[in-house]
Amino acid sequence: MSHTLVIGAGGVSSVAVHKMAMNSEIFSKVSLASRTQSKCDAIAASVKERTGQTVDTYQIDADDIDATARLIEELKPDLLVNLALPYQDLALMEACLKTGVNYLDTANYEPKETARFEYSWQWEYQDRFKEAGLMALLGSGFDPGVTSVFASWLKKHHFSSIRTLDILDCNGGDHGQAFATNFNPEINIREVTAPARHWEDGDWVETPALSHKQSFDFPQVGEKNMYMMYHEELESLVTHIPEIERARFWMTFGDSYLKHLEVLQNVGMTSIEPISYQGQEIVPLQFLKVVLPEPAGLGATTKGKTCIGDIATGKSQDGGDLTMYIFNVCDHEDAYRETGNQAVSYTTGVPAMIGAALMLQEKWSGAGVFNMEQFDPDPFMDMLNQHGLPWEVRELPGPLPF
Ligand code: NDP
Repeated sequence: MSHTLVIGAGGVSSVAVHKMAMNSEIFSKVSLASRTQSKCDAIAASVKERTGQTVDTYQIDADDIDATARLIEELKPDLLVNLALPYQDLALMEACLKTGVNYLDTANYEPKETARFEYSWQWEYQDRFKEAGLMALLGSGFDPGVTSVFASWLKKHHFSSIRTLDILDCNGGDHGQAFATNFNPEINIREVTAPARHWEDGDWVETPALSHKQSFDFPQVGEKNMYMMYHEELESLVTHIPEIERARFWMTFGDSYLKHLEVLQNVGMTSIEPISYQGQEIVPLQFLKVVLPEPAGLGATTKGKTCIGDIATGKSQDGGDLTMYIFNVCDHEDAYRETGNQAVSYTTGVPAMIGAALMLQEKWSGAGVFNMEQFDPDPFMDMLNQHGLPWEVRELPGPLPF
C-alpha cells in the first residue's frame, strides 16, 4: 500500500495524476489537493472515466504551512508531490518536515517578488531533511528532470568525462492562438525575460535575455530558431558533474511569440512590480496571466511535436573524442488523447510520476535533498520508455558549430 498526496491542479498535475492512476500497482492511493477544489474534482472525474480509479480531492492553500501540515496529518501520505507553483516549494518542504513526509517537485523555488532562479534556498534544507531521515527530490519534470537524467545516463554509459553540455528544448507545437504560453504564463514569462546565463570555465556568464540566437534541425520537427536562456538544471549539473567546462540551455521561440512578448514588455505588462489601479494594488504580470488563455485549455487545439534533449561532448570511455545527442520527441495530439493535456504538461507530468514511483519503490532513496542526476539513471530511463516518453540516442559527427 502506498499513499501519494499531490498538490496543485494544473496541466502538469492532471497528467501526473492520470499516470499514477494508470499505475495503481505502484500508486495504490492518490489524493489531490489544490487552491481551487473544483479543478481537483475535474481531474478526479477524468481519471475515473479514463481509468476507473478514485482520487479523493481537498482544498488547500499551500502557502499556509500549518493548514498543509494538518491535511498531511489527516491523510498520512507516504509522499507529497508538489505540482503547484515554484512559490510554494519552501512552504511545502516545511510542511513535510513538520509531519515527517518525503517531498518531490518539478521546479526550483522562486520568491514572488524577484525572478531569481537558483537552488540555494532549497539546498539549504539539506541538513534538516537528512537529520529527519527524509528525502526531497528536486526537479522531477522534463527540464529540469529528464534532461538531468539524460546527462547522468550519458556519463554512466558513454563518457569518461563530459566537457560541454547543451540542453535543447524545442516546442514545435502550434495552438492556433495569437499569443499563449504552454505552461503557467507568469512562470513562463518570468523565465523567458530573465537575463541568459551559462557556465563557462568555472564561472557564470550573463548576457541579455534572448540575445543569442541559433538555428537547429530538430528530429521530427525540423529547423527552428532557438535562444540561449538560463535554466535551473545548469546549476545542479555543473555541481554534480564538476568536470563540465561549458553548459548552456536553449529554447525555441517563434517570431510571433517574440513579437508579442516584446510589445507586452515595452508597455510594462510583464513587470512584477506592483502598481495601483483604481485604488487596488495589482501586479501587471499576474493581471496578464488572467487575460491570457489557460495553458490547460490549449490541449484540444495544439498540433505538432516537442523535441527536448542533451548534446554532450567529451572523452569517450575508450579515450577518444565523442559527441552524443539524446532526446525525446512527444506528439501534442497523442498526449491529449491519452490524458486530455498537451505535450508540455505531458512531458513534465510523466517524469513527476516516474520520480514518485522510484521513491515509493525505494529504487531511489536516501536522506537529504537531492537533484535528479545524483541517482542511478537506469531505472528512470527504463520507465521513460515504458510510460510514454521513449528516448533516442545518436552519435554526432562532431560538436555543435556554435
Ligand atoms: P498551472 O498554473 O497550470 O497549475 C498550478 C496549480 O497550482 C494550479 O492548480 C493552482 O491553483 C495551484 N496553486 C497555485 N498556488 C497555490 C497555492 N498557494 N496553494 C495550492 N495550490 C496552488 O501550472 P502547471 O501545471 O503548468 O505547472 C506546475 C508546475 O510544474 C510549476 O511549478 C511549473 O513551474 C512546473 N513545470 C516544470 C517543468 C519542467 O520540465 N521541470 C515544465 C513545466 C512546468 P489555481 O488553479 O487555483 O490557480
